[in-house]
Amino acid sequence: MDDPQKYETILIVDDNPDNIRLMAHILDAHYRIQFAIDGEEALASVADNPPDMILLDVMMPGIDGFEVCRRICLGERSRDIPVILVTALNDPEAEIRGFAEGAVDFLSKPVNPPVVRARVGVHLALKRQREALERANRRLVEENARRMQLEERLREQAEYDALTGLPNRKLFQDRLEQTILLAERNHGNFSLIFVDLDRFKWVNDTLGHDAGDQLLVEVSRRLRGVVRKSDTVARLGGDEFTVILSHILHESMAELVARKILEQLVVPFVLKGQEVTISGSVGIAIYPTDGMEAPELSKNADCAMYQAKESGRNAFRFYSQEVNQQAHRRMRLEAEMRRACGTDEFFLDYQPKIALATGRITGMEALLRWNHPVEGVLFPKQFMPLAEGTGLITRIGAWVLRTACQDAMVWDREGFVGLKLAVNLSALQFREGDKLVDLVEEVLGKTGFPPDRLELEITETMMMSNTEAVCATLHRLVAMGISIAMDDFGTGYSSLALLKRLPIQVIKIDRSFVSDLRADSNNTAFIAAIISMARQLHLHVVVEGVETIEQLRIMEQQGGDDVQGFVFSPPLGREGMLALLQGRIPMGGCNGT
Ligand code: C2E
Ligand code: MG
Ligand code: MG
Repeated sequence: MDDPQKYETILIVDDNPDNIRLMAHILDAHYRIQFAIDGEEALASVADNPPDMILLDVMMPGIDGFEVCRRICLGERSRDIPVILVTALNDPEAEIRGFAEGAVDFLSKPVNPPVVRARVGVHLALKRQREALERANRRLVEENARRMQLEERLREQAEYDALTGLPNRKLFQDRLEQTILLAERNHGNFSLIFVDLDRFKWVNDTLGHDAGDQLLVEVSRRLRGVVRKSDTVARLGGDEFTVILSHILHESMAELVARKILEQLVVPFVLKGQEVTISGSVGIAIYPTDGMEAPELSKNADCAMYQAKESGRNAFRFYSQEVNQQAHRRMRLEAEMRRACGTDEFFLDYQPKIALATGRITGMEALLRWNHPVEGVLFPKQFMPLAEGTGLITRIGAWVLRTACQDAMVWDREGFVGLKLAVNLSALQFREGDKLVDLVEEVLGKTGFPPDRLELEITETMMMSNTEAVCATLHRLVAMGISIAMDDFGTGYSSLALLKRLPIQVIKIDRSFVSDLRADSNNTAFIAAIISMARQLHLHVVVEGVETIEQLRIMEQQGGDDVQGFVFSPPLGREGMLALLQGRIPMGGCNGT
């Protein structure tokens, strides 16, 4: 039976069984004993079942103890087993040779039991210590390797974007500074390009974040494909990418790359099995002309990118002084707009809508203007993006609704009852959902304007994101008796399905379809199709931007309901509108009809 304490095995090798028996007797109480009666057997036993220690007789027939010791100490798996040579010879030569072959100690016959136990004990303890040390060392090496891996990963996380694997903002800044130093030393040029995707938010909102992520990964792949290996493509965050073109001979090289980037971005992407087309806006700054330091260069490339976006997207712009001035103007306008919110610089014009069937005014649309103290009257196109970008549109929009309702009550009191009032809403106001409904309730309550004569105009793009919430808000407004008009119809991405789902009563066909309206144009066919579809969905059709008698005739043939446009009247101030209603100024006066 094995004593559980006896966990170490000692191999006793001796050609004399009496010696083996004696040795076994000495050690049996503490160790498991194996034995072999010659060198061959000893080597076979070591190979099969390596012991923790070997007591090896030197003088044996066949392979002697020295040779066995030598082979054991050379063996890959056995070299760490301590070998104690047992010899009858009291021969210093033999000891020297034994140590040379790798033995750790000597015992001489006749053996002295306490000495045997002491020597064996010491060498086994040494072996255990050595093994423990080796284990500790291995662990240390492994831990070290793991730590280095971890540090490497952390470093990558700190410098690379996890999603796309591109350098992140921090590494981009390092590289930019390095590129500047290099260019400074070599008197070279390089260019910094900022890229922003045009419809990223839309993809995220409609197809989900997975699709958005997929898009970013694919975009980064395409961007990398456009530049040389030595150039840096980085992701600053969101849908903002930058490219450092480390060496350019001429500005036209940057332009070439910018064009290639735009070309790559308009190639359709397949996201979640769906084909999606986006585009990009690209801004370019050149070192050293557009900035000698990293922050200035970045700011200017960003500024140029913003200009590209404002110019209608899918475009690139070089930074220029003019771009800079526009950026300054934008900042100034923003401050001025904040201030103007509390003054009477904003005012409303009204444009009548005329029923084709009767030729009578059925209502009017309120249109916002800003009477800027220096620049004169500004139109929505000139300040609406800023009002939306800064969030000021919610305050201004509330003012528009209140003022329009008050003005409409004035016309009521003058006897022009029953006119409809259309007010435009911005996407930002719409996103406030409950607050918007509260505002409308409050304004109607305070002004006494009847809800069934209020029409709120929304655009298709507002409907694209978060349709559930939008739908809920629309239903609450409709439940109050208000009607909803889909403005600029045909310019966005809206589908028939959307029109069916949303509680919409009116569509306003965008004026771009009217502008080149001749009896035989495609637009005529388009308008005819919209009108017939609207009939089936029981929608009221308003056609905007009708300027000429010819266009008006065509609209009459197609059978739209109401017409709004210069052919009848341009937008007029509150007093002008009253005069028009009273017949003090003629309709259609603006184009002489
Ligand atoms: P919209 O709602 O589609 O308004 C119609 C625009 O077409 C107005 O431009 C109007 O002056 C113009 N228009 C009307 N008839 C004709 C025509 O026969 N020919 C031509 N060429 N244009 C015509 P406006 O006033 O510059 O407003 C532009 C846009 O600004 C509006 O487009 C609307 O989306 C937005 N907007 C105006 N007021 C407000 C407002 O109070 N709040 C919000 N959120 N947006 C507003
Ligand atoms: Mg409108
Ligand atoms: Mg419109």
